[in-house]
Amino acid sequence: MRIEWTDIAAGRVDTAAGTVVEVTGFPVAAAADRRAACFLLVPENPCCPGHVPAGALAAVEVFADSPVPVRMGALRLTGEWHVGSDETGAWRYCLRGARTLDPPGWSGIGRRGLIAGGPLMCLGASACDPGDPKRAAAARAAIEAGVTVDIHSHAGGIASDDRLALGTGFSPIAAPMRAGGMGAVCLAMVADGGTIRTTPDGRIRPFRDPAPGELRDRGARKFDAILRLVRNEGLRVIATAADLRATRPGSPGVIVASEGADFLEGRIDALDEAWRRWTLRHLQLTHYRVNPLGDIQTEAPVHGGLTDFGAAVIRRCDTLGIVVDVAHGTTELVRRAAAVTSKPLVLSHTSLSERPGPFSRLISPAHAKLVADTGGVIGIWPPAGIFPSMAAFAMGIARMARVVGVDHVALGSDIRGLTGGSVFPDYDRLPALAEALLDAGFSPDDTAKVLGGNYARVFAASV
Ligand SMILES: [Zn+2]
Ligand SMILES: [Zn+2]
Repeated sequence: MRIEWTDIAAGRVDTAAGTVVEVTGFPVAAAADRRAACFLLVPENPCCPGHVPAGALAAVEVFADSPVPVRMGALRLTGEWHVGSDETGAWRYCLRGARTLDPPGWSGIGRRGLIAGGPLMCLGASACDPGDPKRAAAARAAIEAGVTVDIHSHAGGIASDDRLALGTGFSPIAAPMRAGGMGAVCLAMVADGGTIRTTPDGRIRPFRDPAPGELRDRGARKFDAILRLVRNEGLRVIATAADLRATRPGSPGVIVASEGADFLEGRIDALDEAWRRWTLRHLQLTHYRVNPLGDIQTEAPVHGGLTDFGAAVIRRCDTLGIVVDVAHGTTELVRRAAAVTSKPLVLSHTSLSERPGPFSRLISPAHAKLVADTGGVIGIWPPAGIFPSMAAFAMGIARMARVVGVDHVALGSDIRGLTGGSVFPDYDRLPALAEALLDAGFSPDDTAKVLGGNYARVFAASV
């Protein structure tokens, strides 16, 4: 079956899902690539490499079995047609297992297609010429240009209750950080573990109420474990903006974080204690329980967003110097948090969806803009179920940058926190990510912002 752009633009080709189709269009690939296995197909010739079209129906995402020429004009492709679920990101249609039907050099598209999306937006051309052998060096330079930060991590297995209970210790984090050039990680403990579990339909949900004091005590033991891990690994605790500025790939550090403020058990003075005793500097308000601070994406709303207690916690964070992270919170929670805070907000691990489904952890463009409008930062996470390759992950980051601006995106790896596979399983992959970002059209300066500069700005404003 041959797919026409008029039908794509009208969203009329859902019924072709699962069938082998033919589609002709112009490839939009990374600025540095002459050949690519992961690219976008658009109906008319793009004005320059690295431009990303806007609108869910403006392009077809292509995953080819092997790289195809993407600098030779139009391509006639065949492959299996997929209708993107709401979970998979911004483009509705995807061609998998794609291969070209035309010899390289063919450029026979006969008519101007119809483009449904908005204007094209340039993310900045790569400094690398196509095929430049210095690509790896450019990636390394972007890593070393400033501070690199993973804004959401459970590296070492720090979120695991089992490791804590068994006292079996944690896996190394300093060595992979040094190997990859990662300067700082927001290392998050999880206090509601033991009260949540994965249901048969794949959701993570609470299954029992915690006993009084349980979450406070588990939080204390896990904060202690973070500091022990930092000490044993020869890392440093980052307490101030100057500390973060001073981190370098060779001398990495840890920002003590909590995924969920459940350990407070409704007591604001427990926040002061955590700031003082464990150097807590990054607090995610909610996790997988509807807690006293507000509503979460994965359960039906109870509070109508952020509670008054949640608002009080945000104000106290602003006073003490703690970054406020609204990951897992509902759009209504984020809306009130943005109104309450006097500092930029962080949303540390998610990705963009035009239409997030019910109980989805992904966020809509409007949700993302609430965070960006505070001057904040959104971390994109790398589940293999969403991004099948590093190139696809970089394009996912580019999609969010297209919506909120390049100053408002970052890496939120959720290392050792993802239940499925990850295209960024450890920090030795950082150079590969930097290369993929350059390939996706980010300039070296913008790559450095995504890899840490943006978070460093928020941290300096907050702490
Ligand atoms: Zn999470
Ligand atoms: Zn996490």
